[in-house]
This record gives sequence, C-alpha cells and structure tokens, in this order.
Amino acid sequence: MSAKVWLVGAGPGDPELLTLKAVRAMNEADVVLIDDLVNPVVLEHCAAARVITVGKRGGCRSTPQDFIHRLMLRYARQGKCVVRLKGGDPCIFGRGGEEAMWLRERGVEVELVNGITAGLAGATNCSVPLTLRGVSRGVTLVTAHTQDDSSLNWRALAEGGTTLVVYMGVAKLEEIRLQLLEGGMAADMPVAMIENASLPQQRECRSTLLRMQEDARVFALKSPAILVIGRVAAVGQAAYVAAAASA
Ligand code: SAH
Repeated sequence: MSAKVWLVGAGPGDPELLTLKAVRAMNEADVVLIDDLVNPVVLEHCAAARVITVGKRGGCRSTPQDFIHRLMLRYARQGKCVVRLKGGDPCIFGRGGEEAMWLRERGVEVELVNGITAGLAGATNCSVPLTLRGVSRGVTLVTAHTQDDSSLNWRALAEGGTTLVVYMGVAKLEEIRLQLLEGGMAADMPVAMIENASLPQQRECRSTLLRMQEDARVFALKSPAILVIGRVAAVGQAAYVAAAASA
C-alpha cells in the first residue's frame, strides 16, 4: 500500500462546518494526529482511529515539529491511513505547507483538505462581511506572531484599504494598534475581536483602533481570537444598522 497522509482542516470548531471530504478522511483514518485547536467533538467521525494529540496549548510545551513530521512518516510507511487534523484550514497559519513539503520530499503522497479558517468563521458568525461593495474591496490575512522577528509592513497594511484579519494577535494588541496608527490608519477605524469563533462560548467585542487594547482588557479577551480591522467591522452592530437604514 502506498504511503499517504491527509492534511485536513477541521474548521474553527463548529462540527457542522466540517467539509464532507474531511469527514470521509476521518472515517477512513487509521491514525489521527490532532492539534489542540481542534474541537474534540469532531472526533466522533474517526471512532475507529488511534487519536494522538500533538497540541501546543494549555501551558504545555509544544510537541516539536520535527517529532510530528517523523510520526506521520512512520505511520505512513507502515501503510496506515494517516490524517493530520488541524484547526481551521491547514494552510492558513497551520504549517500545512511545511508538512506537505517535508513529506513529499520523502516520497509520501499528501492530500490537502480545506477547512473553514477562523478568520472567515469569526467574521461571519458576528455578521461582519469581510468584503462589501463600496466599503471593502479585499481582505488581508496576517499573523501578528513571528518566530524569526521579521516584521510586517504595517504602513502598507494601514494604507492598503483592505479589511485586515489578524490571527494570533491577542498578545500583540499594543503593537498592532501602535503600528497601524503610525501607519496612518484612522483612529476611529472599527475593530471586531472575536473569541472562540463558531463555538458555543463565542464572544465578540466591538471597538475602534484607538480603543481596542483598553476594550480588550476590560472584556478580558483571550486566545483563540481573531481581530477584524476595517470599516466592515462596524457592520452587524446596532448603530451601523440604524445608520444604514436612515441613509
Ligand atoms: N489554521 C488555523 C489558524 C491557526 S493559528 C485557521 O485556519 O483558523 C491559531 C490562531 O487562529 C489563533 O491564535 C487565533 O487567532 C485563530 N483561531 C483559531 N481558532 C479560532 C477560533 N475558534 N476563534 C477565534 N480565533 C481562532
């Protein structure tokens, strides 16, 4: 049997947001390696598989990436159907790209299966349209977190006029706020901060660029959360609806 690994997006948490293809892969899996952002409820689809948690949260040290690579390789070479299940989409800040390249270089067949990424689900679940005719012509997904100290071109992001969706931003609110203000973004730019998007415990906090750090502190915003920064982030709020109705 040829070795194969499926790199599968489990979506943001709501089990109804799984794709049919993800469900099929889970059904067929012998071994499932999961990240801790994966909602355990989705594991009902892989009842016959051996489930191994390789997550990084909860104060535990990360499972070294190299160990995860080797584990996938070992099971694949044993002819097992391996599913690597990741929160959201495997290729949006999910290392799907790295894992696929590493495995393919070793002759392992890889199939990637999209999941609904947290940024899309978070926005939709609080009625924020990421693009909107006359308001936003594009969306930029960025992560505030880097491992190599490289920095984003915040000025370009501030000037670009697209809706910004920021992942891994909770610990970086101060930097994001300062950089975007310095980059010339309006202080009253609407911001929506969405915690635990698509899960029963989802919470949303609406704010502005100027106030976002203070509002997040009062709200006790916690990871996992995404930030939507842009004019569309005011949509879905009572004030916006009233203004639109009277326009
Ligand atoms: N591959 C994932 C992203 C992994 S990076 C995806 O496509 O969604 C981890 C970051 O994703 C978190 O720090 C947070 O910013 C975001 N995230 C993941 N799940 C989330 C959720 N249910 N609600 C809000 N943000 C989430």
